[in-house]
Amino acid sequence: MIGVIADSAEHGVIREFFELFKTPWEFYRSDRQYEVLLCSGDGGLDESTAKLVLIYASRDVAFDAVEKIEIAARTSNRILSYNGVRIPIYGESITFRGNQRDILMDEELQYAGIHQHQSSGRVVARIGYDLFSEIRVLLTSGQPAVYADIPTLDLHIALLRDLIIANEVPLVEVPPVPDGYRFITCLTHDVDHPSIRCHKWDHTIVGFLYRAVLEALVNLFRSRITARDLFANWAAALKLPFVYMGLAKDFWDGFDDRYLELEKECCSTFFVIPFKDNPGKDHHGSAPAFRAARYGAQDIVETIGKLAAAGCEIGLHGIDAWLNSIDGQRELEEIGRITGAGEIGVRMHWLYYDQKSAVALEHAGAAYDSTVGYKETVGYRSGTTQAYKPLDVDRLLELPMHVMDTALFYPVYMGLSQPQATEILERLVDNVSHLGGCITVNWHDRSLSPERLWYACYRDLVEDLKNRGTWFATAGQATSWFKKRRSVVFETDGAGPNTVHAKVMDLYGDTVPGLRLRTYNPRGSHEEYVDTAFNESIDNRTLTGVGR
Ligand SMILES: [Zn+2]
Repeated sequence: MIGVIADSAEHGVIREFFELFKTPWEFYRSDRQYEVLLCSGDGGLDESTAKLVLIYASRDVAFDAVEKIEIAARTSNRILSYNGVRIPIYGESITFRGNQRDILMDEELQYAGIHQHQSSGRVVARIGYDLFSEIRVLLTSGQPAVYADIPTLDLHIALLRDLIIANEVPLVEVPPVPDGYRFITCLTHDVDHPSIRCHKWDHTIVGFLYRAVLEALVNLFRSRITARDLFANWAAALKLPFVYMGLAKDFWDGFDDRYLELEKECCSTFFVIPFKDNPGKDHHGSAPAFRAARYGAQDIVETIGKLAAAGCEIGLHGIDAWLNSIDGQRELEEIGRITGAGEIGVRMHWLYYDQKSAVALEHAGAAYDSTVGYKETVGYRSGTTQAYKPLDVDRLLELPMHVMDTALFYPVYMGLSQPQATEILERLVDNVSHLGGCITVNWHDRSLSPERLWYACYRDLVEDLKNRGTWFATAGQATSWFKKRRSVVFETDGAGPNTVHAKVMDLYGDTVPGLRLRTYNPRGSHEEYVDTAFNESIDNRTLTGVGR
């Protein structure tokens, strides 16, 4: 059990942190004994008998003077290198003079970010930044795009976990890994352009012709596309007048069949625009006119029915839901009217979102949101592979979006070729295989068709994910699984520090996979940890203990 000492202003972010690092903990009580004491800032050291004390603070604390810890530098916005892995620190931090440089180092200054030593029969690790301020930054404003590829929040959890395990303190955890799988994948599709026929000489068509005719030629010369793709694009451009006349097939239509064929049994999630010709609002008034979609959910009722019948989920691709809950309610109702679903999740069109959006979406009755991500790059805006609860809402979970196709391929963003994109995606899949959690991918409705033809990269990604033992979940299923994990309550029954009982409080039946209880340093085993599956409750009395 971890006891946490912190200012009451930090309690909300601490609670959320321990939903993501799901391990037994509580706010410090003087009548209790803890194996680990985690202090955010000053305090609580003298009375405690904890075997391991962790002090996270970016300023001097009383302990520094008592133990004569020498501060090397005071900085902000630094990168710490943790066993060669980069952890950006967004607030203030301090580094120490000492001999611990191999564990956590300031990348540039080469001073130690941590000072560990034995003190009065216990190990004290002094870490030079404010853990929960860092978590707050990640869960609110998020990381700048330059550090998008670093799952910073998950690395903070990993560092804390490693410090506990390395000091041979018993630790159990419910990792973000569904039983029977290695991680979760959410394949999602924002439906912006289900038909080219309903665009007549607007900016979409001008963009289409420019990219299909000219940019494709340039891309051929730069070896970014094949001659076959060039001809497919030119043929599509030539066919366009005939599409308008009804003499040729609308090549953006039929996205449902293309995705069902490619994804097969991996049920994906389609976010659908509720109302046509409505650009919605931004912070300055009306959003740009070309934000308006040329269709509304009502226009693709048949497609929606086919996707739902195939096991896919239909969510709201919101217009103004991010801004106020009344519009949000209206937009959710329109999707509910067509699909009959009561629980509807959201991703905002053009990723419109601000600090108040989570509250607006929760009040509107959204089941979850999946908007938080980057439009210009791929990776971890909130620093995590996990669904999390934004700090100011009661129940709404954010399922962060990690990959959007347009970010990978548009020249104004990353401008990658498909093989280059595949390499980047492999790294993201490596991360989620290692960390657990979920990778959420957004491939737009028209992206398999001319002029994009981003088919090969997506097919390879889905294939790679299948081979890595992922659970393909719709966004609603994934958030249900995270809710199930969040509902776990740990009980210690007083039989000793090594006894933990874990119980799932919300019932999700068999609709989502089970959980695992992970026991580190298990008794009588040389494994780093053992996992035991559970679906309702588990008692790990027999497992825990320091075995090494
Ligand atoms: Zn959109």
